[in-house]
Amino acid sequence: MKLIKQFCSFVGKEIDIKQASLINIIRSEIAEKGAISFPRFWHQALLHEKFGYYMKQDVFNKDGDFVTSVEISQMFNELIGIWLLNTFQHIGVLDNNFRPTNQKMHILEFGPGLGTLSSNVLRVFAQFNLLENLQYSYVEYSDYMRKKQQEAVLKQLQKSNIYPKYEYNNQKVEKFESAEVNLKWFKMYEHFLYEETREGQHCDPVLILAHEFFDALPVNIFEYSGGQWCEKLVGLDQDGKTLKFILSNGPNQNVYKVLNPDKYFSPEIKKLIKEGDTIEISPQSGVIANSLAELIAKVGGAALIIDYGEKRAFSDSIRAIQRHKLMDKNDILNKPGDCDLSAYVNFMALEQAALKVEGIKVPELMTQGNWLEQMGIQARLQILCKNANKATEKRLQSEYERLVHSNQMGSNFKFMCIHRTKNNNLFPFIQDAQQIYY
Ligand code: SAH
Repeated sequence: MKLIKQFCSFVGKEIDIKQASLINIIRSEIAEKGAISFPRFWHQALLHEKFGYYMKQDVFNKDGDFVTSVEISQMFNELIGIWLLNTFQHIGVLDNNFRPTNQKMHILEFGPGLGTLSSNVLRVFAQFNLLENLQYSYVEYSDYMRKKQQEAVLKQLQKSNIYPKYEYNNQKVEKFESAEVNLKWFKMYEHFLYEETREGQHCDPVLILAHEFFDALPVNIFEYSGGQWCEKLVGLDQDGKTLKFILSNGPNQNVYKVLNPDKYFSPEIKKLIKEGDTIEISPQSGVIANSLAELIAKVGGAALIIDYGEKRAFSDSIRAIQRHKLMDKNDILNKPGDCDLSAYVNFMALEQAALKVEGIKVPELMTQGNWLEQMGIQARLQILCKNANKATEKRLQSEYERLVHSNQMGSNFKFMCIHRTKNNNLFPFIQDAQQIYY
C-alpha cells in the first residue's frame, strides 16, 4: 500500500514537470481568475521569467525567428552613430569641432537585442576618438538578452583596448566601468529613471534610441459589440485547454481607462463605427513616450524611435512570427513563448503623448528610406564597395536595397524624433528632407 502511494506521488510529480509549460501556467491563471487581458497574455508570452520568448533564445539572427535592420547591415548602425554625434554637437554636448565639452555624452537604448547597434555605435565613436566621457545606458528586461548584449559590447570595446570592470552593487542596475566609458544595464525604464534622474542629481542631456522596441509592447484590443465597446480578453474554450479570445461582458474597466470611447472618437468617427469594429491601443507605449518627452524637457537631448507603423491606430495588426514565418491568426494564443508577438506602432499616439509635455517638438515622421538617404547611405555604400571584392560588393548592394527600397523595408519602417522646441531643425528632420519619398 505504502509503495503504491509512493509510486502515485512519483507519477504525479513526473506529470507536473512535463506540464510546466507556459501555456499551462496561463491556463491555470485563467482557470483561477477568469479571462485575462491581452497585455497580460502578451507579457507572459514574451517576458515570463522562465518560459518567455525573449528570456531564453536567440531570436534575431539568420537562425532565429526574424532579422531586424540593425542585424542586416553595419551601414544602418553607422549612420545612427553619425546621427548621435551630429545631434550631440547640435545640442552643445560636443563643440563645433566635435570635441567634448564639460557635459557628458549620455546614450540610452531601449531593447538592444543582440547589442549590435550599440557595438557599431561604439565603433563609430572610437573612430572619432570620442570614447571618453561617455555613458551608455540600456533598458533590457531579459536577463538572457542582457548577457548577450554585455558580451557583444565588451568585445567591441576590447578592440579599442578598453576593459570595463563589472561593478557589483545590489541595486537593479548592472554597471561596467572604465576610465573612459561607463555602461549601465537596467531591467526596467523605471529603474533607469530612479537611478539616473533622482531629485538633486546632476543630469547631462541624453540621446535615446528605440529600434523595434515599441512594436514589442502589448496592446489592449477593443471590439464594438451590441452597440457598446467591449474588451477582447483571453479565455478558455469549452475543452478547458484551448486559449481563445472572448469578449468582456459589456464595457469593462479597461474600456473606460484605456480606450475611453467618449473622448477618443470624434463625433464624425462615432457615426461611422459599426458592429464588429476593433481597435488596438498600447497604453504602455503612450506612458513611455510621455515620460521620454518629460526627460528630454528636463535634462535636454532627443529620442530617435524607429519601428514599423503609421500615424494612426490599427485594428488588426498583431502578428506572431516563428522561424521567419507569419503564424496563422488562430495560433497566436496557443504557442506562447515559442513565437514573437508584435503590433504596428501608432506613431500618432506616441506623438500626442510626447506633445503633452511643454517645450517639446515632434517633427514630421520620416520613412526609413528617406532618413537613410538623407544621412548619406549611398556615400557610405560607395566607400565600402571601393575596398570590397565582387561578392562583398553584391552583398552590400543588396543590404542597401533591403533597407532603403520601398517594396522592402524603406517605407514601412519610420523614423520619429522627439526633441526640445529650442533645438529646432534637428538633421535630417527638417522640412526639405521630407520632399523625397521612397
Ligand atoms: N533593438 C533590437 C531588438 C528588438 S526586439 C533590434 O532591432 O534588433 C525587442 C527587444 O526589447 C528585445 O531585446 C527584448 O528582450 C526587449 N524587450 C521587450 N519588451 C521589453 C520590455 N517591456 N522592457 C524592456 N525590454 C523589452
